[in-house]
Amino acid sequence: MAHLWTPPYVSGMPQQPLAQVPDDAQWFWQDHGSCRDSDPLLFFHPQNERGNARARRDRTAKMICAGCTVRLECADYAVRAREPYGVWGGLSEDEREQIYSRLDNKCYPRRRGEGSAAAAREIAAAVSPRSLGIA
Ligand code: SF4
Repeated sequence: MAHLWTPPYVSGMPQQPLAQVPDDAQWFWQDHGSCRDSDPLLFFHPQNERGNARARRDRTAKMICAGCTVRLECADYAVRAREPYGVWGGLSEDEREQIYSRLDNKCYPRRRGEGSAAAAREIAAAVSPRSLGIA
C-alpha cells in the first residue's frame, strides 16, 4: 500500500514498529497502489474515531482498494505482518483481527503468498459490492 512508506507515525499512531515484518517482504507493489496519491489519513483512523465515522472512512478507503491492481500483495503483506492499524488490501483492522484470531499462532502464515491464501475468503469479501454497500 502506498501508505506504507509514510514515516513511522501517521497521526501520532505507530505503524511499522508494531508490525511483524516478514523476512521476505517486498515493497515493489507499493509503487502501483491505487492509494499512492491518496491522503494516508483515509486509511488510518484518528484516535478515538468510532462508529459511523469510522465505518464511513473505512468504506472510502476500501473503495480505493477495490480497484487496486496490487490488492492481493498488499493484503498478503498485512496479514503476514499482522499489521495492527489501517486498511490494507481492502481489509479493515477489525477484519484482520478476525483473521488473526482464527489462524494458529504455531503455524502462522509468514512466507510470501501464505497470508493471501489463508485469508482468501475474507480478502475477496472485504471489497465485494455487498460489503461496500453498492450491490
Ligand atoms: S490495496 Fe488498498 S491499501 Fe493496498 S496498495 Fe492498494 S489501494 Fe493501497
